[in-house]
Amino acid sequence: MEQLRAGVHYPRSTGEFQAWFRTDEDCLDYLEWLRWPGGFTCSSCGHAGGWRLGDGRLECAACHERTSVTAGTIFDRTRTPLTVWFTACWLFATQKDGISAQHLQRALEIGSYPTAWAMLHRLRSVLVRPGRDLLCGTVEVDETFIGGDEPGLSGGRAPGKKVLTGIAVEVYQPRGIGRCRMAVLADGSAESLHPFITGAVEPGSTVITDAWQGYRGLEAKGYVHQRRSQRAARAAGEDPGKLLPAVHRVASLAKRWLLGTHQGSVDQAHLPAYLDEFVFRFNRRRSASRGMVFYRVLELAAGHQPVRFQDLLTGKKPRPAPHSRGSGHPPSLDRPSAARPWRTGELQLQLPIPLRLTEYPEPLLSRTTGGPRPGPVPGPASRGVAGTLSRPCNRAVPHPVRCA
Ligand SMILES: [Zn+2]
Repeated sequence: MEQLRAGVHYPRSTGEFQAWFRTDEDCLDYLEWLRWPGGFTCSSCGHAGGWRLGDGRLECAACHERTSVTAGTIFDRTRTPLTVWFTACWLFATQKDGISAQHLQRALEIGSYPTAWAMLHRLRSVLVRPGRDLLCGTVEVDETFIGGDEPGLSGGRAPGKKVLTGIAVEVYQPRGIGRCRMAVLADGSAESLHPFITGAVEPGSTVITDAWQGYRGLEAKGYVHQRRSQRAARAAGEDPGKLLPAVHRVASLAKRWLLGTHQGSVDQAHLPAYLDEFVFRFNRRRSASRGMVFYRVLELAAGHQPVRFQDLLTGKKPRPAPHSRGSGHPPSLDRPSAARPWRTGELQLQLPIPLRLTEYPEPLLSRTTGGPRPGPVPGPASRGVAGTLSRPCNRAVPHPVRCA
């Protein structure tokens, strides 16, 4: 595909997001464009071109196989409206630290906690792109214990089991941190550590570790191996806790993120999914455009096989909903205008509340309203003034050519 452009291929702001994806049909059309930017191509026979059926499905012109836009993606057979899915993706991608299932449930009126929980886990499950690039250059590798608090036990939190996690982080000279990778390890043996390193770091890179014996033999796998011994650091009067500063920084950020956004309520079975989300966020922390991150999440979601709810459970059910209401399927965000319900509510009886500027303390009044203003008043088009979120509909947004 040609170079992606902000404001054309992905929304630049919440205002644009809202203007583009007003209806479930808008979202479906965007997914269709994501899957087949050059027009419909049959997934069975590879033929390009077909026609659209009355129910919205597409039929291949060659083999007459029928398919839908969401078939074979994580949105397959979803009973959650696409406007809700897209808003969940937008919140997931644009919030710096992501969102919790409870926050998502409340924000989008999702009836049950497990539905919100499963939506976020479906998004997490697509974040690792098969065949993604390995780390390269100089890479610090270490293992650490993460997790430990398990929710749902009486009397608040009880100590759970911490999970041994491998961390690899690119380091720059003289300073700076690049990308990272994290994975749950069975133990600290060479049999666990070596596959983690070969799966995360490009051969030929320099790998820096501590003196743990599990890292022996990395040279034979094509790495330049630098060992930093704690004993040697102590002897030299250096802080042995700062042997591998980059991995320790990433580990503490990950632990803080789990405690912050998810309040530590991450059980062992799902820790790998949360680590994937943390790595995805960390590696995009300098991305200037959150809209681009939104595009990437949707692109991965549209290219990912459906994820069954049973597969998400991995033997552990999401904790019961505190405020469960009926079925989990939320209403579409594609709704008619609500005709200003605040004008008809009971509160109207108490209005009008008089608002008199004279009741404000004198200095505040003179600061806000008194005296001539210095310089011209900037117009709405000038720099620094936010655009209104009231926008025209997106019908004129240029989509690439539809299928034949
Ligand atoms: Zn076909």
